[in-house]
Amino acid sequence: MKNNKKPRKLSFRQNVNRMVDRAIKATNLDKGTARAIKACNSVIQVKFPVKIRGKIEVFTGWRAVHSTHRLPVKGGIRYAPYAAQDEVEALAALMTYKCALVDVPFGGSKGALLIDPVQYDRDEMQLITRRFALELTRKGFLNPATNVPAPDVGTGQREMAWIADTYKNLNPEDINYLACVTGKPVHHGGIRGRVEATGRGVQYAVREFFRHQDDMARAGLSGDISGKRFVVQGLGNVGYHAAKFLSEEDGARIVAIIERHGVIHNDNGLDVEHVHQHIVENKTIEGFPDARFDANGAGALEMECDVLIPAALEGQIHEENADNIKARVIVEAANGPVTYGADEVLNKRGITIIPDVYVNAGGVTVSYFEWIRNISHIRFGRMQRRHDELRGHQYVSLLQEISGASISADTISKMVHGADEVDLVRSGLDDTMRLAYQEMRNEILANKDINDLRTAAFAIAIQKIARTYTDIGVY
Ligand code: NAD
Repeated sequence: MKNNKKPRKLSFRQNVNRMVDRAIKATNLDKGTARAIKACNSVIQVKFPVKIRGKIEVFTGWRAVHSTHRLPVKGGIRYAPYAAQDEVEALAALMTYKCALVDVPFGGSKGALLIDPVQYDRDEMQLITRRFALELTRKGFLNPATNVPAPDVGTGQREMAWIADTYKNLNPEDINYLACVTGKPVHHGGIRGRVEATGRGVQYAVREFFRHQDDMARAGLSGDISGKRFVVQGLGNVGYHAAKFLSEEDGARIVAIIERHGVIHNDNGLDVEHVHQHIVENKTIEGFPDARFDANGAGALEMECDVLIPAALEGQIHEENADNIKARVIVEAANGPVTYGADEVLNKRGITIIPDVYVNAGGVTVSYFEWIRNISHIRFGRMQRRHDELRGHQYVSLLQEISGASISADTISKMVHGADEVDLVRSGLDDTMRLAYQEMRNEILANKDINDLRTAAFAIAIQKIARTYTDIGVY
């Protein structure tokens, strides 16, 4: 009898696990260690009441801890009307692999609150967030030494400041209270460069890819970023900063921006800052001047372009549209935008995928810098900046004395500039993104069973985690 049953769609967590299994197979990791690495260590669900406009509402939230092989565990908190435990576990697992890949010494975690933030005003959001933070703290899922959240979809600096303040009120004796969460405003213990860190990391990832002629040739590309056609899905924190930096600093031509209400096209390139302002003012991209609007946003993923940057949600490129994707390179700024099935199709079609665990690691990398800043209680650059400037002036004087040449004021100012916090953050992020990409390339060269960057990224991560298990043992 013919089986007409449609194949069951994999959940987000199953998609991640399938991808990890592929890497486990390629690295010959023993089954027990593989099982230990893949298992989600713990997950809590909280339900808590908040009085809103005179009525009691009950909210549901989760925090998953995927791996405690390193502490603290780290990962964003998402506010979304579609949040669910499976998604939180998948995202927590991605955090473990991401941290291992880019050598951020944290385990993986993730949190979510089932809420549609647009339905509540600022004061209500503050009440709800503080109550959620209270639940997490009481249950040991918020602490500078063990579990440190950060922003994700639907949350930002404001929520992180409320969370830090709630933790401080509960633990006034904890000298490191500011390190209980990252992504805070700078005047509240945050670090310069964190807001744009993930988008900046996406830019550095694209730049590193364009430095490798072989990789570009494999994707059917040549030349540099300037003038290349980019399509970006999601102009939120990550997509906006990535598109802005790539277009303004590297000359990328953003020919389409896909948002929740549709897509806008302009073959000459969209002005990302203007589009962003338009969204802030009108809450939609529709009506943006100098662009053609189409309500079928998802259809634009299939447009002819050089680089496609999905920067919105998971599961956007799936088995049904994978065959129609025309981009030469997919840069996964979002977490899990390509399903396992689509990944297999795209790999076969020779489309290069630069994977999420690498591409969006800029956020957690700069969060790591913020956490270090908080536990060391000093701004990066504070001790040496003026000293470096003095040294610079001494070198310039020496150079002028020896050569007799006069050096322009502009050159002098560049030579004597002492690095401030944002310079150091960018330098550390750039270094991290370059090294991790090179590690993935080397893994492909070293292992004949690995042909794609995603499998390489997971293989590197699981081997690093497995080494920790071997070193400390399992008890
Ligand atoms: P965000 O909420 O700031 O932005 C998401 C954007 O996507 C919004 O502009 C939203 O309108 C848009 N969007 C929603 N549904 C859409 C749809 N169906 N089609 C097109 N656009 C849609 O979130 P973010 O922080 O930019 O996160 C985006 C992705 O990046 C998520 O997958 C997140 O997990 C990942 N990420 C974020 C960070 C970070 O630091 N914020 C770090 C690592 C990974």
